[in-house]
Amino acid sequence: MRNKKVIIIGAGIAGLAAAMKLSTSGINVEVYEQHEKPGGKIRYFDSKVGPIDAGPTVLTMYNVFADLFHSCGYKIDEKLKFIKEEIIARHWWRDGSSLDLYSCFEKNLEEIKHFAGNKSALEFEKFDKFSKDLFGLFKDPIIMNSKPDIFPVLINGFKNIKLLKDLLIKNKILYGYLNENFSDHRLKQLFSRYSTYVGGSPFNSPSILSLIWHVECQGVWRIAGGMYDLVKQIETISKRSDASFFYKNKVKKILMKNNKINGIELKNNKVIDCDTIIFNGDPKALFDGLLGDEIQNAVSNNNINKRSLSAYVWSFAAKTQGLDLLHHNVLFNKNYKSEFDDIKRGEIPKDPTLYICAQGSINNPRPKEKSLGRFEIIINGSPTYNHKKYNKQKEYTKCKEITFSILDSMGLKMDLKPTEEMLTTPKEFEQLFPGSQGSLYGRTPHGISSTFMRPRNKSKIKGLLLAGGGTHPGAGIPMACLSGKHAAEMILKDLSLT
Ligand SMILES: Cc1cc2nc3c(=O)[nH]c(=O)nc-3n(C[C@H](O)[C@H](O)[C@H](O)COP(=O)(O)OP(=O)(O)OC[C@H]3O[C@@H](n4cnc5c(N)ncnc54)[C@H](O)[C@@H]3O)c2cc1C
Repeated sequence: MRNKKVIIIGAGIAGLAAAMKLSTSGINVEVYEQHEKPGGKIRYFDSKVGPIDAGPTVLTMYNVFADLFHSCGYKIDEKLKFIKEEIIARHWWRDGSSLDLYSCFEKNLEEIKHFAGNKSALEFEKFDKFSKDLFGLFKDPIIMNSKPDIFPVLINGFKNIKLLKDLLIKNKILYGYLNENFSDHRLKQLFSRYSTYVGGSPFNSPSILSLIWHVECQGVWRIAGGMYDLVKQIETISKRSDASFFYKNKVKKILMKNNKINGIELKNNKVIDCDTIIFNGDPKALFDGLLGDEIQNAVSNNNINKRSLSAYVWSFAAKTQGLDLLHHNVLFNKNYKSEFDDIKRGEIPKDPTLYICAQGSINNPRPKEKSLGRFEIIINGSPTYNHKKYNKQKEYTKCKEITFSILDSMGLKMDLKPTEEMLTTPKEFEQLFPGSQGSLYGRTPHGISSTFMRPRNKSKIKGLLLAGGGTHPGAGIPMACLSGKHAAEMILKDLSLT
């Protein structure tokens, strides 16, 4: 196996998962990453009170990570400390009401009854079942499968005609489904927000994305030491198995010979030979020719367009007062639709929903009033293709005004207004992730068939595999991780056959 060399372009979570799987299986792995450290979208800023996340914060599907480590010969709990959150998130509305949701059905039923009455609790019970049934239907043949297969879904779907009818015929749009099935407008907002987890507007995404609720209520975890520990641990294990990581090494070109992969060319013109590559960047970079003209047809237009949501992301340390924040908090706006209408026009939403990840110091998960805490605030944004002329100073000023006037109106006082470098804009995401147009989740999940449109691991070019949030099964850390593992397993399978 050591004779076989695989080059991985990109050290995002999928590239790392593939590196760990391949290197622990005895393959000679080289990872080339343009940035100075691994993680990709799993990023952080340093502060006096420890690292502040600037990327993902909600960790779901623990089993995906446990399985990856297990398949590489490690017990995840001996390497990382996963802590399950009792309350998955605290939700706030402008009228001062708030709702905590738990990873426990009975507790949620009780909370919703108290929050919005018996009728809403019954509606929630029905929705919870819909979400669970959907997940059950799609999990094995589609979500966990490297080669999504619609037939088992249809066959099992016919056993549950009502589900299939709800899904395909009655209401194809997530918000429409929730509008019909919930009477309380706050709950429509809350459960439709899950489409933004994969970069979709609830007003355009299919109701199938209701299944994300089931994933979330199965558990949200925190990693002691921070999200970045997952990145460091996978890199460490891969290095221990002799994988080599080359940072600040942008791959300029993927080389081909006789219609097969033949190597890569770095930004410094150095050429490295190989016949197998896993590309962990945004698949749109290939289509746009950013890695050479020869490789452009590895993916098709349908695989990558249209684009998913982007975001404005604040990361800073501050002292706060006024709202009892948990680790995950959502501050909903008044008119949910207006947020996505602004995004459609390429504008910063004038009245956005704010997601706040609040942490204390490194050993204290919750920020204490008046002592320095760590905050990541995320506002949905549009990808860059329909933005007006870019000016960071202007975007910063506008975004600061919008964010802090909302926080003020909700009674959350912060002793610091973050500076320009503490904001990452869609344009900066575009620069960080080439070809992405600032989209953080690859192709949009809009449209009932979008699940089948993302590129698969094996591209149209022999020797070129894709892995990451822009490929099947989609965005989010567990899904990207799974796609990296799948790509590695395909290479191992092909080797065992040759
Ligand atoms: C603000 C934000 C919040 C999020 N919140 C959550 C959340 O709470 N929960 C969740 O599960 N997910 C969340 N996500 C999504 C999740 O972070 C991503 O889906 C996942 O991390 C993507 O991983 P990936 O493997 O696709 O690689 P990426 O993270 O996209 O990394 C790809 C890597 O490839 C490198 N690369 C690209 N081209 C080249 C080249 N030519 N040469 C060398 N290197 C190259 C890039 O520099 C990058 O490091 C969030 C994302 C963001 C940005």
